[in-house]
Amino acid sequence: MLQVREVSKSYDGRTVVNNVSFDVAAGEIFALLGPNGAGKTTLIRMITDIVRPDSGQISFDGRSVAGPKRARTAYLPEERGLYKKVPVLDALAYYGELKDMSAADARREGIELLEEFGLAAWARKHVATLSKGMQQKLQLCTALIGRPELLILDEPFSGLDPINVQILEDVLRRRRSEGTTVLLSTHQMNKVEQQCDRALMINRGHMVLYGQVGEIRRQHAENEFALHADGTPRRVDGVKSVTAENGHWKVALERGTHPATVLKLLLEQGLAVRAFVPLVPPLEDIFVHVVTTGVGLDAGRSGPPTIDEQVSLGGER
Ligand code: ATP
Repeated sequence: MLQVREVSKSYDGRTVVNNVSFDVAAGEIFALLGPNGAGKTTLIRMITDIVRPDSGQISFDGRSVAGPKRARTAYLPEERGLYKKVPVLDALAYYGELKDMSAADARREGIELLEEFGLAAWARKHVATLSKGMQQKLQLCTALIGRPELLILDEPFSGLDPINVQILEDVLRRRRSEGTTVLLSTHQMNKVEQQCDRALMINRGHMVLYGQVGEIRRQHAENEFALHADGTPRRVDGVKSVTAENGHWKVALERGTHPATVLKLLLEQGLAVRAFVPLVPPLEDIFVHVVTTGVGLDAGRSGPPTIDEQVSLGGER
């Protein structure tokens, strides 16, 4: 498990990562979110020991990431490149050897990865002959070779078509089920909703959201419900508004009204209700809200949260 404890980093007297603490469990896909310049890359660089924190500790499986017995970590940064004038398999196997694999093992696993990503037919072609999306897949292979325990991917979906996005999603799910810890940094909030168990969001170096993705969304939900019914609902007590939306009704309840009360009243009208489900906001809306309002920046927290807290620090809207 990755443990980040009270980590801070300043550049030129400016704190760009401010007392950040979180955990990522083995077999978890964890999202690191935040607006441009929030401090995500700096945090990842500290996790990968490219730069050292000014204060705080980072460990993996109880060992410091800066120590001699560090975890097998792979980091695919957003800005990346490949040697262009070499065959695809050679380029990939080279990364395996950099990770202390034997040449034979690196080629064997390289072929497996190329097959997994649908690139096997290109193994002997030069990297330069690959399309942009194919190069992106090869770069993902360079991160995956050597079976890292901690896999850190920055915007891994960018440049991939929907079919290749699905291939990558399947690969990540498989790696997760094998116990790999995956840290994903992305601005694609729908991918976070679909793929990630938990998320941390930082803004101007501060933690502003932390917890299970579904829980963060539920905590930011208004008291609104999607009503699917045959017929038109009449007004009932405790309901602020009912609006028609795309084949169903959006029912906004007054603060403090329990949905069961409203559902009962709707059924008493004789309305044939097919579904009455809470509406949770998309993560993208929560992201925009938290960043534009600066929620959580001055929370004045006295200490870091533990993994048990599973909290969303953003608070209610
Ligand atoms: P983006 O989404 O745009 O990639 P980010 O969240 O990854 O942003 P960082 O790259 O970590 O953000 O940058 C956070 C802040 O730290 C920025 O204001 C940046 O200018 C500053 N910063 C990062 N690295 C350095 C450095 N080596 N020297 C000085 N300032 C730096």
